[in-house]
Parts: sequence; structure tokens; C-alpha cells
Amino acid sequence: MLQKPAHIDCIRIFLQGLVQGVGFRPYVYRLANQFNLKGTVCNHNQGVEIFVEGEKSIVDLFLKELYKNLPPRSRIDQTDLEEWNFTGFKDFRIVKSINYLKEITNVSPDIAVCEECLKDREKQPHRISYPFINCTNCGPRFSIIQDIPYDRERTTMKVFQMCDTCTREFSNVSDRRYHAQPIACNLCGPRYTFQPENETISDYEEMVVKVSALLKNGDIVAVKGIGGFHLACDALSEKAVSLLREKKRREEKPFAVMFPDIESIEKYAFLRLGEKELLESWKRPIVILKQRSSLAPSVSNGLNTVGAFLPYMPFHYDIFKRFPHPLVMTSGNLSDEPICISNEHAYEKLSGITSFFVFHNREIANRVDDSVAVIINEKPRIIRRSRGYCPEPVKTNLNLEGIFAAGAELVNSFAIGKDSSAILSQYIGDLKNYDTSLFYKESVQRFNKLFKFNPKLVAHDLHPDYWSTRFAQSIDLPCIEVQHHHAHVAACMAENHLDEKVIGIAFDGTGYGTDGNSWGGEFLVADLSGFERINHFDYYRLPGGDQAVKEPWRIAVALLYKYYGADLLKMDIPFLKEVPKSKLNLVLQALEKRINAPLTSSAGRLFDAVSALTGLCLSSSFQAQAPMLLENAMDPSVDEKYPAGFSKPINLKKLFDGILEDLYNQVPVSIISARFHNTLVDLALCQVNWMAKNFNIHKIVLSGGCFQNAYLLSKLENKLLQSNYQVYSHTAIPTNDGGIALGQMVVAAKRREM
Ligand code: ZN
Ligand code: ZN
Ligand code: FE
Repeated sequence: MLQKPAHIDCIRIFLQGLVQGVGFRPYVYRLANQFNLKGTVCNHNQGVEIFVEGEKSIVDLFLKELYKNLPPRSRIDQTDLEEWNFTGFKDFRIVKSINYLKEITNVSPDIAVCEECLKDREKQPHRISYPFINCTNCGPRFSIIQDIPYDRERTTMKVFQMCDTCTREFSNVSDRRYHAQPIACNLCGPRYTFQPENETISDYEEMVVKVSALLKNGDIVAVKGIGGFHLACDALSEKAVSLLREKKRREEKPFAVMFPDIESIEKYAFLRLGEKELLESWKRPIVILKQRSSLAPSVSNGLNTVGAFLPYMPFHYDIFKRFPHPLVMTSGNLSDEPICISNEHAYEKLSGITSFFVFHNREIANRVDDSVAVIINEKPRIIRRSRGYCPEPVKTNLNLEGIFAAGAELVNSFAIGKDSSAILSQYIGDLKNYDTSLFYKESVQRFNKLFKFNPKLVAHDLHPDYWSTRFAQSIDLPCIEVQHHHAHVAACMAENHLDEKVIGIAFDGTGYGTDGNSWGGEFLVADLSGFERINHFDYYRLPGGDQAVKEPWRIAVALLYKYYGADLLKMDIPFLKEVPKSKLNLVLQALEKRINAPLTSSAGRLFDAVSALTGLCLSSSFQAQAPMLLENAMDPSVDEKYPAGFSKPINLKKLFDGILEDLYNQVPVSIISARFHNTLVDLALCQVNWMAKNFNIHKIVLSGGCFQNAYLLSKLENKLLQSNYQVYSHTAIPTNDGGIALGQMVVAAKRREM
């Protein structure tokens, strides 16, 4: 061992967090050289390891500087600093990644193209107009990675041999592309090809001109992006959008719209606090905004919101330069199937929709849909967590190592536990769809490999018929069952670092209960290991089971039947006249004989019922359409409510008395809707007051799909805060079933400890 000179300091710095694929090593390299320090920096599966040697005072300065100008996308979660043996380094170097098995580091999510790269496309001779430009601060990451550590040879960029210029930049520390793994240029990188009908155009400029012209003409174009295909068309052309709807057989669900820039968004939507920032963030999610003026009517189909996002690939910018119209950019798939990622598959699946295909030859290793977020009470809330967010881990204070959480059924996402982090998968989708279940299996395998994950324990939903439950049980490992709403509440607790007894409110569509009924309007006293169901909405029936979810009028009839019996036939309510007599009689029979009419305490289905009762939505064509229309119709300035109060189980007769009376008096639906929402808030507040007094708990956790309803969440949150409760809701993880896996995981971790 070398003798350490007295004035020299030798330290090892170990950084964990989002430190790979974000330009961290070059940053450290430049800084060390600036201070003339010697040593090394290297990527690890677990983080970044730095050794520095130099004068004590200089090393101190270096450490101070290190945190000051971190690369924009990086995030440090933990720093370990220790004295180290003297090596006598001659210079400062970036050394080869070390692959320690069993340990992981963060894989960066995909990053929108940065401003500097957009400028470089105008001045770098080898990158003039180059559409796959990227740098250490931007470009594809998760979507191209096949294994770790994150180096080019373990990404789908491996097949592109770097040209001399790119190689020089890649190895030049003062270059913006120093060690940018997906580095590429016009000479050596991936390319687009355009296939309109029988020709193939490989010239990029020519392609952009043609594609813009097609969009202008009202045509639909399929475009390969970062994490999958989009179907694009002019969002101002009703003809184009309705054609897309017809061909995609996605009757009414709103389409996402990409706008050329923030100014054009402001023309069509209101921007409130935080929304501009979220839209412009490098994650570039779709953000649900209040509409100001209308796009083509078929885009949002009667809803007063629009899912807006900004360009995040050079190709998007190039199209907007020639055709500065808002564009529908919806996922390139058929109804419930996963979004297409390969050229062949897209061609096969989407040929019925368009004959214009923009392909590129950078393979997508991991499918990632566009993420969806919304701002409620000034906080961003993620609704669909995929591109830009996945696979960022959720840190907890629990030992999650080796736990696989299978997730739920709809809007599925699974999770794996590494150390104290939960890594949630990208949005998978509805597992009832066969192709989606294949995507699930593939992704599980990919995550196992990518994060060197070795499952030891499996957590899954209580529902025996969920595909994810059966998948979990097919793994030859010990299983832990977690009740759906306990998982919802636990997910929110984990996200907010709570590990104690709380009052959990789960307002949800459906979830299998411990009594075999379908739950969803639940008041729990819960901690991470277990829960007690303190109260719930009084059970009512879902005539026809799943059919009732598609036909909310059935639920309305069931609730009327529950509270008024056969008298409902004498009621003069408009929606009843719209239901065919024969169908109505069948439903009444089912209710009377209790055949195929399972019991539920669902809060979500109450929104369905009221939506039908007020004539807004008798049958729905996509998930949550009825509640969305009900929220949409509301006049938020109305503060009144129907009589409620405390009861056990929670009796809703007075609520329905009030709605019926309003209907007889022809009170506008905007007011009925507001009164209904306010009543639910009031009911919840009454419950909380009662529970807080009886259990002496003042932390309130809100979870479940219903809290995607902005009015419900913000009003309840505010009322609870005004009553001096501590309130916790979801921000980084979906409040819908996309967040369930996190809850399953922490519950399993806690039970494993016991
Ligand atoms: Zn860049
Ligand atoms: Zn090149
Ligand atoms: Fe749920």
C-alpha cells in the first residue's frame, strides 16, 4: 500500500438515486478536472462511485460544488462518504461500469428532447435536422434498455455503429454528448422511413413534408414514437377525428391532443397553477385541462376537459413547423390491446385504420404509453404512470427485497421490491385482454432481468378470478393475499411514508371484500399490516353483474328498488321511459329473486347510478364515462347538499329522496350533480369525525379510483384540513388500480416482518 502524503485527502463518495443515464459521470469528471483532483468515477448497479485524491481544502471545495450544479434530470437520494486508502492516481478518469450482481441502480425514465439539442439540429453539420438527436441530458432511456448497467451495448442502440465524429464526441469530456449512450447522427444513427401505400420514402425532409400535407388533408397517420405507435390526425377537423373514432372503434373515450406549443394550448384550455410547469417538464405527460374553446367536437365528446401535451421528439416539432395545428395523438392500438411497438405488428394491426406509416429502426425494448396527470389542489397527480415516470422507484422505510406484487385487473401495473424501493412497472392495461396479459408476462420477465430481481414472496389481490391473482398463484412461492381497498390505502400510506394506524377512506369502483361481496365505499381503520372495516355504504345490488357497469341505468333501478320497492314503476322519472319495458322487467325480476345481482358497497357505482338517474349516461362505452359526465355537468359554485349524517351502514335513502324531489321539481342537473358530490363529501366528513373520536386517530388517507374526480378530492381534502385533520392523498402513484401493487407490496413486507 502506498504511503499517504499528510496534506492529501483520499475519499470515496458513493451516490445513490437517479444518477445513471443523466450525464452524471461526465459532470463529476469535469468538476474534478476543474479542481485538478485525481481519481475515478464509475457506474455501479447500485449507484455512482467516486474516488478523489487531492489537497484537503480543495477536496472540501469539490464536495461543496458537487451538489450545486447537479445535472438537471438527476436526483440524489443518499450519499455515503468515507476515508479511503491512498492510491496515487495520476489523473481523473471515468472507468468502466462495475456489474455487481443482485444489486441495482435506478434506470432513468425517457427524457423529452432538450432545447440545446433542438438548437444543435440547426448548426451541427452532421446533425442538421437529425430526428434522433440526444445528449447526456435528454433522449430515450427506459424504452431502449435491455439490461444494466446502462451502457450502449445493453440497449437497442447496440446495432448502430458510432461514426468517427460521434465516437469523438462520446469520448470527449468537454462535449455535451460525452458518454451519451444513445448518441447518433445523420451518418450513423437510426432513421425514419415513411410508407404511404406502395412506396417507401427515406428522405427525412421529404417525409415530413408529405406527412404534414396528409394531416392537413384530414388523413390519419400512424407514427412510431419513443415507447410505441401513435395515431395522429388534425384535432380541428371533425371529419378526421370522427373517422379515427369510427376506425378505432373507440366510440366515446376522449382522445389526447398534442399542441405545437404552450401558447396554442392556452388558446384552447385554461392553464391554472402548476399546469404549465407540468406540461413543460421533461416528463411531458398528458395533462387534463379545463377546455376554453372547442377543438373538433369528437375529440373530447361532450366533456369540458382536454388531455393536452407538448412535443417531446424532434419529429413532433418538425411536423408542427409545417402544420401548426393541434393534433390528436392517440395510442396506436385496437381498443383494449397494448400499444404497438414493432413496425411489423403496427402494420398488421393498424392497416385497417390507416395506410400511412411512419416507421423508424430504433427498436423499442420496453413499451411505454404516454403518461397522464392532472393537477388537483395545486398538486400534480399521476393517473397513468408510464413514459417519463417509469421505472423511477418509490422509496419506503421497509424491507421490500424479493417481493413481487401482482397488481389488480384493470389499469394494471405490477411492482417488484428491491431493498427498500418499490419499482412499479409501466402502465400495463386491462388484463382481461389476452394480448395485454402477454405484455404483463413479458414485462415481468424484463423487470426480473433488468433489476436482477429474484422473487421470494408474492403479493396479490383477494379476488380469486383476477388474471393477476391466478398468475401470482402459478408462481411456486409463498403468497400473501391483500384486500383491494386495504391495498389502496396502504399504497397511499407508503407514498406518504406513513407506518401507523390511520383512517382510510377508499372510494372505488369495485374490489373483492373479505365477505365475498364487492366493496368500494369503505371506511377503514388501517395500518400497513391489517385493517378493520369500520363502516361502508349500505349494500345494494348490481343487476346483471358486469353488465350493470356498462349499463348504469341498471344500478339506478337497483337503488330505487332498494329504497322504494316496486313503487319505482309509478315514478315519473324521464330515464325510466328510455329503458325498454322488457329489459326493465328482467332487471326487476333479477332484483326480486336476487339472481345474478351481487351486492356492492361501491362509491363509484353511486356516481353511475346518479348519472343514469339524471339522464346523463344510461349506458357507457368506456370505463368511468358515467362519473365523468356527472362531474362534467356540475356547477361547482353550488354549495348545497342533501341530508346525510351518520348511520351504520351508511344509509343513502335521504340522498335519493333528495335527488328524486329535485328531479320532480325539474332542478337542473348541474345543481343535482353538485348536491350529490357535496353530500358524499359531507358523509365522509361525518364518518371521519365519528371515527376520529372513537379511535383517536387524526390522520386521514384517501385512495381509490373515485379520487380521480377533481372536485371530490379537492373538496374533501379541504374540508378535512379545515377540520384540522392531517390529510394524505396520492400524487406520485395513481389513486386508481394502477397504484394497487405498491399497496400489496408494503402490506406483504409488513406481514413478513411479523
Ligand atoms: Zn439534449
Ligand atoms: Zn454519428
Ligand atoms: Fe380499486
